[in-house]
Amino acid sequence: MVPFLNLKEITARHRSELLEAAARVIDSGWFIHGREHEAFEQEFAAFHGPCQAIGVANGLDALTLVLRAWIQAGILHEGDEVIVPANTYIASVLAITENRLVPVLVEPDDRTFNLDPSRLADSLTPRTRVILPVHLYGQAADMPALCAFAEKHRLLVLEDCAQAHGALIDGKRVGMWGDAAGFSFYPGKNLGALGDGGAIVTRDPILAEHLRALRNYGSHLKYQNRYQGPNSRLDELQCALLRVKLTHLDEDNQRRRAIALRYRTGIRNPAVRLPQVARDEASHVWHLFVVRVDSREAFVQHLQAAGIQTVVHYPIPPHQQECYPALHSLDLPLTSAIHREVVSLPISPVLSDADVDAVIAAVNAYAG
Ligand SMILES: *Cc1c(COP(=O)(O)O)cnc(C)c1O
Repeated sequence: MVPFLNLKEITARHRSELLEAAARVIDSGWFIHGREHEAFEQEFAAFHGPCQAIGVANGLDALTLVLRAWIQAGILHEGDEVIVPANTYIASVLAITENRLVPVLVEPDDRTFNLDPSRLADSLTPRTRVILPVHLYGQAADMPALCAFAEKHRLLVLEDCAQAHGALIDGKRVGMWGDAAGFSFYPGKNLGALGDGGAIVTRDPILAEHLRALRNYGSHLKYQNRYQGPNSRLDELQCALLRVKLTHLDEDNQRRRAIALRYRTGIRNPAVRLPQVARDEASHVWHLFVVRVDSREAFVQHLQAAGIQTVVHYPIPPHQQECYPALHSLDLPLTSAIHREVVSLPISPVLSDADVDAVIAAVNAYAG
């Protein structure tokens, strides 16, 4: 049996380090916004370069709060448009609509699943204010081209880095290209907490200060509230655990790359389309290894019979979700095809070469 994701084993590798970190918090008697939080914010920022990191409760909040801060600062207004890839995970779109902004869903590059810079001009209107690229499945979007487009048209760039912690473009991490970036530490992400967590990264010190207040009831000083804000804090325990896991992130990503390379060279089946890497190997951290097939149900059943678990990311695109009836009439054929055809094969830092080979053999034996 090859499980899709073995979180128990992923966590067990660092059991003693994690227990030590947890004990430090338990013994400190300080559980919200203390030393661990401060240290994690600094270490997560340092991992990226000259920027600030702001811990928040989850990845959705990270994206939502950045847009909210721009609204509160008068930079964005209700009804402004945000360009977002149509095939993203629903959270990217929820962050937009939560702020009464308008998502403009754009078809992705069919080969990379990411925003296609050449398609943006057609989506531009006088209300366009933000581009929200998503580094989907772990592959960095084409940030040099997207940022050049944003600069030309005076748009803000908010990166959704929830699936791509540590990915690099020309030596620069994702999250450092846009005006701000949102990260998720949901347990299954490349950098996962042992519960919920998220962070914002930005090089803009004014935005950072605003966000530090916003995430904590809008309070800049204890019992003084500058803004109306939610409670979206990252707790001491998760910060202590994330500090441990951050030290292993690059090596975990390296292992994911090795597995992906094994898949990409070992899988030879004309009925199975492999994911493509647009740049160098460093630009992809393989949160998911997503292949495309015409008959998904048959493929999934074939693998299941061979003892291999798969998951579909994602079966229904945002514009066809029940919660967005106004978007149902959109015609997005590339996006709809992606959602019909994609299947994610097992990938994680603890997947053994023997398991990878078992997956390759089973995929190659699929008759199509
Ligand atoms: C996981 C994820 C999010 C949201 O993160 P949560 O921590 O679950 O709120 C946002 N965008 C993308 C692309 C994600 O994969």
